[in-house]
Amino acid sequence: MTVSRPLRLFNSLGRRIEDFEPATDVVRLYSCGPTVYSYAHIGNMRAYTFADMLRRALLWKGWQVEHVINITDVGHAVAEAELGEDKIEVAAARERRSVEEIAEMYTQAFFTDLAALNILPAHHYPRATQYVDEMIAFAERLVERGFTYEIESGLYFDTSKDPGYGRLGLIDVSGQLEGARVEEVPGRRAKTDFALWRAEAPGQIRAMRWNSPWGWGAPGWHLECSVMSMMLLGEHFDIHTGGVDHRQLHHVNEIAQSEAYLGDGQPWVRFWLHNEFLQLGSAKMAKSAGQVVTVQELAKQGFHPLAYRLFLLGGHYRSQLEFTEDGLNGAQAALRRLVRRTAALGQLPLITTFDEARALAADDAGATAVIDQIDDAVSSDLNTPRVLALLQDSLRDATLSEQGQRVIAAVSAAVLGLPFGNLEPADVEPAAEGLPELDHAMVDKLVADREAARSSRDWARADALRDELTQLGVQVTDTPDGPVWSRSG
Ligand SMILES: [Zn+2]
Repeated sequence: MTVSRPLRLFNSLGRRIEDFEPATDVVRLYSCGPTVYSYAHIGNMRAYTFADMLRRALLWKGWQVEHVINITDVGHAVAEAELGEDKIEVAAARERRSVEEIAEMYTQAFFTDLAALNILPAHHYPRATQYVDEMIAFAERLVERGFTYEIESGLYFDTSKDPGYGRLGLIDVSGQLEGARVEEVPGRRAKTDFALWRAEAPGQIRAMRWNSPWGWGAPGWHLECSVMSMMLLGEHFDIHTGGVDHRQLHHVNEIAQSEAYLGDGQPWVRFWLHNEFLQLGSAKMAKSAGQVVTVQELAKQGFHPLAYRLFLLGGHYRSQLEFTEDGLNGAQAALRRLVRRTAALGQLPLITTFDEARALAADDAGATAVIDQIDDAVSSDLNTPRVLALLQDSLRDATLSEQGQRVIAAVSAAVLGLPFGNLEPADVEPAAEGLPELDHAMVDKLVADREAARSSRDWARADALRDELTQLGVQVTDTPDGPVWSRSG
């Protein structure tokens, strides 16, 4: 029996490719989740699509996976900001809702996006507000161990007590002290020190507040992830993922406080994986009506969410990816071709693992060779562009048997998370077909004018502008974040 290759992953800790082996048969995986104060834009969703790819690769290798994605429903969205207002409280005030309603609304919107992108549901979605007692206990242990100091704005982690501080981010601590653009926090001893507990300022009463040994306030953002991951996955676990923006600060701080808390001389988590950014660049559609574009917005414009997933998988997760309309149109066309070709093959077998694939291919040498190449691509730090190319080539390859093509299509569906069997060609028709050219700047202006008319309660003018937009085939939806427009076709 052939065994699949070792899974080789780029570990940010040490910045090198390493063979991955979990500590037990169940891979314990933690992904930093969203701060739920607004809709996730398509760039945010790259991180979860990447984590899903990783999870499917782990399953392909025959391991079970226990996956946690946290929901940050209290705390700052911007890691650098230790002071100032809480993003969720700001959103609640703006939208005239309670902080709980805001968090719940955007959490549900996040789940909708995950499902639309065919991301396997995590086993746990812990909410930070449900773990505040544990966070306080965690911080108390850091106090006992002498890693903290208290100032007016709260309890801080003293990074000078951690000789390994910043290793993940390759941070030169002395350099950062001088150069970094970090806010001034009165009393903070070093710019790398960070809040474990954010105390209320005198006279301030937060909408979300808890009592603690350091007064009324709220936990620091970094603390949330350390506590929720350890509570659900155990003190040490296998893989921690997040966007590359977390590599320099959030994850650096998670490691510092967790290793100080554990004090066992072991690395807290062995593998740290980070996905690169999506560049929104000059894409007009990314800025419709001044909004960041969401998966739901793409769908309104006629792009299937799985076309966006395929677009993401067409780039390696560690490469920056430029989002363009042409790129997304190309992905939708590629998805359409794949759906047509796989539909012609009839029912696909259900495959999750390499062993299942090899067993089904049996002595079909052609299919076996392709499965091995797919395994090689997956094992080479999740080379999804290569898997896509192998799939496309195989479906065109007349020397492959039809059963062999079926197995290869099923393997690709499993590792890429593209459920060909559940899609019809009609689901992925060209987005813009039959629609006339549209001047986006003009539409943006009409939408803005209408919003201005509404603000000044000039309903007649607002209605007239809406009619004008309708004439152009543009539909305007008023959301809590302002108007969003889409082609109504
Ligand atoms: Zn986190």
